Amino acid sequence: MAELWQRTLKDALTDVDELAERFNIDPQSLTPVVERYPLQISRQVLELIEAPGDPVWRQFIPDPHELAEVGLVDPLGEENLSPVPSVVHRYPDRALFLVSGSCASYCRFCTRKRRVGCAGSSPSFRELREGIDYIAATPQIRDVLFSGGDPLLLPDAILGDLLNRIHQIDHVDIIRIGSRVPLTLPERITPQLCQLLRKFTPLYLNTHFNHPRELTIEAVNACNLLADHGIVLGNQTVLLKGVNDNPAVIQELFFKLLKMRVRPYYLHQMDLVRGGEHFRTSLATGLEIMASLRGPISGLASPHYVIDLPGGKGKVPLLPEAISVQRGATLIRMASGEMVDYPDL
Ligand SMILES: *Cc1c(COP(=O)(O)O)cnc(C)c1O
Ligand code: SF4
Repeated sequence: MAELWQRTLKDALTDVDELAERFNIDPQSLTPVVERYPLQISRQVLELIEAPGDPVWRQFIPDPHELAEVGLVDPLGEENLSPVPSVVHRYPDRALFLVSGSCASYCRFCTRKRRVGCAGSSPSFRELREGIDYIAATPQIRDVLFSGGDPLLLPDAILGDLLNRIHQIDHVDIIRIGSRVPLTLPERITPQLCQLLRKFTPLYLNTHFNHPRELTIEAVNACNLLADHGIVLGNQTVLLKGVNDNPAVIQELFFKLLKMRVRPYYLHQMDLVRGGEHFRTSLATGLEIMASLRGPISGLASPHYVIDLPGGKGKVPLLPEAISVQRGATLIRMASGEMVDYPDL
């Protein structure tokens, strides 16, 4: 029998006409967007929208701007860093294991817009097996990040089997899971799931909250249950224009996360993904927000502000001294000293 969360998920909004009717908007302008990048919004997220254009709306409602032909289809150059289709291996000691191709709700700014939610994006059993074999055969990897899509959309039996196989590999010391279900499908965080996850200690789970309004009672309860089972919680926030690009919103978000036992880990500069340009902010905005945290808010609530450089060059902390402007062009200094051109706004 399907579990409650599976039934809730089936009830998610995927139909443009229903969306248009609900908010009294024109379905015609959205149909081509949704044909290219799928629409799915869980009921929990839908209920959080108070008015068109608000911070939740902006993240989840399709927008004709997504069809702009600017930006990169694969902004982080992940396809070139995939030894097998289900693994992205950029740093020697850690690798992404892409175990799921779908999410409970699709964020319009997603870095993996090119594939998440699209036909054929869910890894086959063979691809998952190849991923496990690659990780088992690569002794430098000691930290495996389950990602996707959303790993927690896998049923307990499959997720448990994958975790078990990775956990059994001698050289893997740490497992991490990246998931947005504490917001988008909080029912998924069941006591059974938490009991399953606790077997794989040390297990880190990174949530993804972008606005204080997302910290619903259900989300708080889901995080509490995870934390009570010994799962260490962190959060990744994406800096998004018109959603959270101001100091007061970010301060409130990070402080409230800390109260929920979720440590702000990364604040991501929006990457150059095609179809997400309308979400991008300038580096100055991010730096100003980071500066506003120093002093008013505990260091525990101050994440690293990072950019994932285009072309697979990796994450760089955006400290003021790493950024320079020469003849109108913005350059970012990597740890290696290499200077990389960045099309700042
Ligand atoms: C972000 C990322 C990681 C994890 O990096 P941390 O800084 O350790 O969180 C690993 N692999 C890839 C490809 C990544 O993009
Ligand atoms: S939850 Fe993560 S992977 Fe899924 S659509 Fe949102 S950003 Fe992309």
